[in-house]
Amino acid sequence: MKNNTPKKEGRGNGCPLYKKCGGCQLQNLSYKEQLSYKQVKCIKALGKFGHVEEIIGMENPVHYRNKVQAAFKNTGGKIISGIYQSSSHRVVEVNECMLEDKLADEIIVYIRKLLPSFRLNAYNEDTGRGFLRHVLVRRGFSSGQVMVVLVTGTELFPKKREFLSALLKAFPQITTIVQNINGSKTSMVLGKKEFVLYGNGYIEDVLCSCRFRISPRSFYQINPVQTEVLYGTAIKFAALKKGDRVLDAYCGTGTIGIVAAKSAGVSVVGVELNEDAVSDAVFNARLNKNENISFFCADAGSFMVEAAKANERFNVVFMDPPRAGSSLNFLRSIVKTVPERVVYVSCSVETLERDLLFLCKNGYRVKKIQPVDMFPHTSHVETVVQLIRKPFS
Ligand code: SAH
Repeated sequence: MKNNTPKKEGRGNGCPLYKKCGGCQLQNLSYKEQLSYKQVKCIKALGKFGHVEEIIGMENPVHYRNKVQAAFKNTGGKIISGIYQSSSHRVVEVNECMLEDKLADEIIVYIRKLLPSFRLNAYNEDTGRGFLRHVLVRRGFSSGQVMVVLVTGTELFPKKREFLSALLKAFPQITTIVQNINGSKTSMVLGKKEFVLYGNGYIEDVLCSCRFRISPRSFYQINPVQTEVLYGTAIKFAALKKGDRVLDAYCGTGTIGIVAAKSAGVSVVGVELNEDAVSDAVFNARLNKNENISFFCADAGSFMVEAAKANERFNVVFMDPPRAGSSLNFLRSIVKTVPERVVYVSCSVETLERDLLFLCKNGYRVKKIQPVDMFPHTSHVETVVQLIRKPFS
């Protein structure tokens, strides 16, 4: 990092909130320098496993986030909305962010301005009083559909009908509005209970020529332009053959498995912990007319332990765990179920390095490493790794 920090050029990339917000750790670097910083980071962690291909950057690395979340707070008789300053609950007011979708930002600012005219205020985390806690906007970049989730402390929504009609009048692009209730002392944005106030409660989007339904609480990649690159790389690394049996582990709404099934006529089993994501996945398989695909709601590790016990065999395993990486249970069971290829999609080079060390000690060899820049201006690095099973000796 030290070596490639420029003296003058690109400092802050023009964002007035750069220092206060902390969300864009690399804004002091030009985009080209950010990419080389990430390349070096990848080589340091993963170079021992083999050649690291050049990171695939974005052509236009701004306003790429299709999901925008804003926290609401009352301060000095005024309502502000924006981003939590890193590692705190202090809200930095945001009107426009260079990472976020522009329309989503406009909707959030409009809601902030609308609240006082309905005598509604922001939720107070200390007293548990007040109304609006967060707003989450998701936009399908391909479909144009827009979901607004209003996260409130209680179910009570005074002047609900008038509020919604004012919002919809200003933004006819909104296709669904959901109220999510979160009254607990937590740093999670969404609570468990929700009501659909307008539309069908989810949006649909198109990725890699497949259609996907996304509910408020399901995981969906936040940079759709680069997701096409990421999934394309993962599918290429899987080298799928017709008739292969494929596991899509940590599958979210089933996206990777569904794209794989469509492109190569393989049968897929998906496993995912989040119930909402699994019901989206089941729906998405039907939406894309995939019959050779089934989904299970379970911890990927426990699921694989059972699969190994039942002597299940997969030719290819896709694994796309959260930042904490995979579990030892999962990795051990991979080794037992002997897939010929493993495609590891990772958002943390640290846990990726740890998990690759285990797999390489236990019968696998890293063949390809491809970083993809999913999160320009932040320090996060996404990597796709192809592992193949060493011949048994
Ligand atoms: N492959 C998907 C989702 C990747 S994000 C996509 O590209 O959209 C990681 C996913 O792992 C999330 O959906 C999260 O809910 C799920 N997850 C987290 N811990 C898990 C576990 N222990 N077992 C199974 N899934 C898990």
